[in-house]
Amino acid sequence: MGSNILYVVVPCYNEEEVLYETAGRLKDKMKDLIEKGAISRDSKIVFVNDGSKDSTWELIRKLHESDHLYGGINLTRNRGHQNALLAGLMTVKEYADMVISMDADLQDDIDAMDDMIEKYRNGIDIVYGVRSSRAKDTFFKKASAETFYKVMKFLGADTVFNHADYRLMSKRAIEGLAEFKEVNLFLRGIIPMIGYPSDFVYYERGERFAGESKYPLKKMISFAVEGITSLSIKPVQLITILGFFIFFVSIIMLLYSFIRHFMGATIVGWTTLMVSVWAIGGLILLSLGIVGEYVGKIYLETKERPRFLVEQFLHVKGEEKQETDK
Ligand code: UDP
Ligand code: MG
Repeated sequence: MGSNILYVVVPCYNEEEVLYETAGRLKDKMKDLIEKGAISRDSKIVFVNDGSKDSTWELIRKLHESDHLYGGINLTRNRGHQNALLAGLMTVKEYADMVISMDADLQDDIDAMDDMIEKYRNGIDIVYGVRSSRAKDTFFKKASAETFYKVMKFLGADTVFNHADYRLMSKRAIEGLAEFKEVNLFLRGIIPMIGYPSDFVYYERGERFAGESKYPLKKMISFAVEGITSLSIKPVQLITILGFFIFFVSIIMLLYSFIRHFMGATIVGWTTLMVSVWAIGGLILLSLGIVGEYVGKIYLETKERPRFLVEQFLHVKGEEKQETDK
């Protein structure tokens, strides 16, 4: 493997309280890694300012002036964690051989970086940081996060369990990611779709170093909905299944009503009414589901996701058989 230039990408939204601490600890880590020869001297730490309303960007500028180890990307406005992260990855991918993304709040164990890099050097393209326990999260955060993964999985958005956005990606993995043109961005769901060898590194998730979570319940729910609707059309398929089911019930109701009718235990009009309520309900849901299936297909088409990504291209040119180095 060629040189090992590492870029650490950190999305920041109103993180003035933690920024210096994070910058300091990351710098120590980078120095250590450079000394050990694990990464190149050209490695950098890049903060992405996601339209913060506080002095985050000023702090990033100062950091950059004090030491060129630090870089900064300023977004025009707040676009959310996922977009800020993507902006970071896409901006640094030309310069880096590998990129580690992590949150600004020091909740992810910085020391897990050593293992990530080690795995990268052994040929792994995507290393997921996975929390081995959530002992330090509040009960509410823990419960809501567990539910989040379960609901997501049930609705067809398969993600790596207990993995947030702390991960290492190789240059070619990020180039693969660049081929996913979707606007509805849910990185945790898309990255496993890239392929390439991947592995996990386990760590304990700590508490937020300072400041408050930028993911209150409202954002978490919209994040979950985003994840489900941008990855799968399962909800639409559930409507179809429900339609079939209700229609089936209507047939049973038909039989039941006939029996009641011949037993003379009904009033006039009850039978037809009962049957039609169920039958029409079932048919409406069924047709809605079918229309939905087509809308779902259109939806997936408009995303223009790459249908494949070429990992390697082995070929010999006809007569010349010459190797061209770029
Ligand atoms: N973040 C961001 N834009 C936003 C919200 C959050 O860039 O609109 C960043 C934030 O600065 C942090 C990371 O995303 O680095 C994760 O946010 P947070 O730690 O608040 O989430 P939690 O750990 O509570 O899920
Ligand atoms: Mg956090």
